[in-house]
Amino acid sequence: MSVNQQAHTGPPYGRPQPGYQGYQQPAYGGQPLPGVPQLQYGAYNGPMPGYQQPAPPQGYFPSLGFPSKGSPVSLNSDSSSLPPNFIGSLRAPSTSGAPPPASGGSLPSGHLTYSPFGQGDVQNGIPAPAAPMQRPPASQPYLPGSAPMPVSQTPTFQQYGPPAASVQQLSNHMAGMTIGSIAASAPPPAGLGYGPPTSVPPVSGTTGSGLYTPYTASQGPPPTSVSQGVPLAQPPFPGQPIPTQHLPTEVPGFASPPSSAGVGPSSYPSTTGAPRPPTMPGPPLPGQTVAGSPTSQPNHVSSPPPPSAMSGPQPGPPMSGLHGPPPPTHPPQPGYQMQQNGSFGQVRGPQPSYGGAYPGTPNYGSQPGPPPPPKRLDPDSIPSPIQVIEDDRNNCGSEPFVTGVRGQVPPLVTTDFLVKDQGNASPRYIRCTSYNIPCTSDMAKQSQVPLAAVIKPLATLRPEETLPYLVDHGESGPVRCNRCKAYMCPFMQFIEGGRRFQCCFCSCVTEVPPHYFQHLDHTGKRVDFYDRPELSLGSYEFLATVDYCKNNKFPSPPAFIFMIDVSYNAVKSGLVRLICEELKSLLDYLPREGNMEESAIRVGFVTYNKVLHFYNVKSSLAQPQMMVVSDVADMFVPLLDGFLVNVNESRTVIASLLDQIPEMFADTRETETVFAPVIQAGLEALKAAECAGKLFIFHTSLPIAEAPGKLKNRDDKKLINTDKEKTLFQPQTSFYNNLAKDCVAQGCCVDLFLFPNQYLDVATLGVVTYQTGGSIYKYAYFQLETDQDRFLNDLRRDVQKEVGFDAVMRVRTSTGIRATDFFGAFYMSNTTDVEMAGLDCDKTITVEFKHDDKLSEDSGALLQCALLYTSCAGQRRLRIHNLSLNCCTQLADLYRNCETDTLINYLAKYAYRGVLSSPVKTVRDALINQCAQILACYRKNCASPSSAGQLILPECMKLLPVYLNCVLKSDVLQPGLEVTTDDRAYIRQLVTSMDVAETNVFFYPRLLPLTKADVDSDSLPAAIRNSEERLSKGDIYLLENGLNIFVWVGVNVQQGLIQNLFGVSSFSQISNGLSTLPVLENPFSKKVRSIIDMLQMQRSRYMKLIIVKQEDKLEMLFKHFLVEDKSLSGGASYVDFLCHMHKEIRQLLS
Ligand SMILES: [Zn+2]
Repeated sequence: MSVNQQAHTGPPYGRPQPGYQGYQQPAYGGQPLPGVPQLQYGAYNGPMPGYQQPAPPQGYFPSLGFPSKGSPVSLNSDSSSLPPNFIGSLRAPSTSGAPPPASGGSLPSGHLTYSPFGQGDVQNGIPAPAAPMQRPPASQPYLPGSAPMPVSQTPTFQQYGPPAASVQQLSNHMAGMTIGSIAASAPPPAGLGYGPPTSVPPVSGTTGSGLYTPYTASQGPPPTSVSQGVPLAQPPFPGQPIPTQHLPTEVPGFASPPSSAGVGPSSYPSTTGAPRPPTMPGPPLPGQTVAGSPTSQPNHVSSPPPPSAMSGPQPGPPMSGLHGPPPPTHPPQPGYQMQQNGSFGQVRGPQPSYGGAYPGTPNYGSQPGPPPPPKRLDPDSIPSPIQVIEDDRNNCGSEPFVTGVRGQVPPLVTTDFLVKDQGNASPRYIRCTSYNIPCTSDMAKQSQVPLAAVIKPLATLRPEETLPYLVDHGESGPVRCNRCKAYMCPFMQFIEGGRRFQCCFCSCVTEVPPHYFQHLDHTGKRVDFYDRPELSLGSYEFLATVDYCKNNKFPSPPAFIFMIDVSYNAVKSGLVRLICEELKSLLDYLPREGNMEESAIRVGFVTYNKVLHFYNVKSSLAQPQMMVVSDVADMFVPLLDGFLVNVNESRTVIASLLDQIPEMFADTRETETVFAPVIQAGLEALKAAECAGKLFIFHTSLPIAEAPGKLKNRDDKKLINTDKEKTLFQPQTSFYNNLAKDCVAQGCCVDLFLFPNQYLDVATLGVVTYQTGGSIYKYAYFQLETDQDRFLNDLRRDVQKEVGFDAVMRVRTSTGIRATDFFGAFYMSNTTDVEMAGLDCDKTITVEFKHDDKLSEDSGALLQCALLYTSCAGQRRLRIHNLSLNCCTQLADLYRNCETDTLINYLAKYAYRGVLSSPVKTVRDALINQCAQILACYRKNCASPSSAGQLILPECMKLLPVYLNCVLKSDVLQPGLEVTTDDRAYIRQLVTSMDVAETNVFFYPRLLPLTKADVDSDSLPAAIRNSEERLSKGDIYLLENGLNIFVWVGVNVQQGLIQNLFGVSSFSQISNGLSTLPVLENPFSKKVRSIIDMLQMQRSRYMKLIIVKQEDKLEMLFKHFLVEDKSLSGGASYVDFLCHMHKEIRQLLS
């Protein structure tokens, strides 16, 4: 049986899939699941004007240029001077001084009118056997009434064989990773899952990789293929030699000591040990000169506080946390003895590197700790994130990822790859912790591998990729299953000559509506299969009918309301003036759909301190009018007409208002603010206008003025590491939860820009933002000079990015599993519907699944994510993403098809939610325990027998320990002394909406040696591991984590390089705390700045740039992000943590 043949058994593609037939699940069937359309939605009120207008679902073109601005006033606010379709890149760094793109008019204007014979650019149309079918590259109305399209596409199924990936790629997903020297340590080779494990000769990891046939293993061929004798041990690549020995052999000092050795609980937060003393932070490291603040910093770095703010209460002397053994007291390790087979087990003594977890030396290798450990785990021998990332890039980066194969594991998020939709949603929309799900709940529980999908429904695609097509099924709306209401998709099976279809989710048979009828070909496939996105693609959109709209009415276009704090701090810092100047130009870049000439979004303005000021900016007025509402206890909107306006119509009045606001409040002495009434005002305004929308609130302080939602300062760092620590993450009043509920009901999304100089209770202020699907941005100690670029870039992107309003998301699954838990920024009023007042292209929802029945290897498992939303032009749409997964009866198949990055995304979100209700230590221990169980289950069931002292990790999860350690050490779970309570709450909320790429770089930052960069190429220098011992004093490095960019300069860097990069002649002349690089005309400077620009473009937020000199005070901050090292807040080094995990695993196995 060949690989290609097996591939045919994978995705049904609208073809009859045997497994779906007769797949009756009485326990589940007969229970109609509620559909997305709400019952209260009423009758059709007539078509909405312009409803048939084609429009692309994405109005945001990240690659295009917003004019870069050195100063906020430099942009001509007269939109007539700009091409109508100019949308602009958002992130043009101000340092580049690049002019705005000159040819905006030639930029992609969204979409073309679709015609089956159309002029559309051929992108990723469904390949079919004959001539290429043309489709425009943007969302199109896909009218079923169109003339039949010649099915003319390139062969589809032929492509389902394994791509030309190299063997290394396969090993990346397959081979068992062992650390140690025994030979038989790999997981069984491909195909093992279909036969008894013992039938496979023991092979080592690289051997396994050579054997691995990814598609045979992952697709789960039907059982019949087993009986045909799948050649289990036969390499799919005949030329591939099968090594019998492999991998780092002896890793001295690796085996963890028995728990009695005194290394465990006392020096590590063991899951089984006694509770740790309340003070978590470890002592300052003995060997380290702690200059300045000896603590870690938040992952998101705030500006250095003014001196007065630095003198806040400190939670006790740093030494108070010392409870482990004193620093270098671990005796030499007599117990480390080689076993006969070369592995290390039964170690009797404490392990040197392990014992150093807290009090030990900070710098491996750089400090000769007396006495030198006889056996020490070589950091080079443990799994390297850099290596895994590089391997995946080399193996997967060149070929497009074609989504036609069920259960196919996509390339890593760190790999730059192109996606071709052939029936499953792109990994940019959905990633899973595993692409092969255990058939039974018992198996799932045994493995402890969480089954979760990380879904980003409106994700931005690469320019070369095709946006989801817009399909119109006419007045009766999208065709759906009668029972479970699943939407028509490639996995529905047409029967009875095409008159009915059987649901792939619930097996119910539904009549095909007459207008949707089509004949089947001899294979049972509809003859219009390739003409219909919903039959052949993983992702597409349906035009929603009025049944899908609130109050039987098609929605009005949304509105944006800008609400500016004009209290003393905001005015004095220059913030108010900055915002007003920026808005003058930014309002010309509101999201618009397709080639619409102007945005349909209306705008309104409010300023506030203790009272609120509304502005009438009606176009007929000569000057704006202000109306003050001082009764904030019962908020109302004092004007309806003239509050929300069209930007072009009211251009003059708005410009006048934005000029006047900074002057009006220039001399304010009001320091107090309200907050909840501001949200209420925006909510009321949207209610009055009967539309959804977004509030942009620019806020500076704790709202202590007398008003609903008034807050008090309840910050108390003494609560850290107590049972009450969770209260720091909880809102201090339920008022905001109720307000959030009202906002969601109206589709009022709240984006919050915070500029605090002290505690302002992010945990409470962020509640509405969080539950309405909004974003929080925080600029602590905001200073114009250093923070304005970051703020303006964030604001521009936030205003311009694609966003859906009044959104409801439902995830349907095939019988056997169901969505049970959800993580992200949203509101849920029932157990199935995720509601978001706004959902933008960066927001991610993580969904966990549990079994409610058995799954079958034949049928696999299906997910369908349906997002109902209102576009920025007011069009009601459904975006559908489908994904088919494999199911397995052998645990080895599960471990072979996992994705650790996604697993970490889920685990971090799970843990970050856990801190709301449990002590942080409990959360950390639970994380460690779950991962130990995952790895122990692998060891017990999938790895070949070997010495107990051997740590064997599944290939796909070999980075689980290092990444898990990064999560455990993060500021939410293990705060350093100077991490503020607000920072922790902020990070907690940010991570909860992150996608997999964002959590990956956030927890394991990217570290690039800039001095190794090739100034003549566009490429980045090869990344290195996040450890101080990897840094050379003679080099300059860049570290980024999605929120910050550090540039670290070694003390011995050549003068020439310093001159070229900083424009000064020596290291000592580089000023401390620099936050920009000078623009210098030499190749090195240009290269470094272009790297930084490139990284800024890749991230959803503008990163703060911090220049760090080696041995300077700020270096402590930088070192906090060297996550393989021990952290000052007590986090273990990678090496130590790996040893600890090994011990946990051994305890579970014994
Ligand atoms: Zn159904």
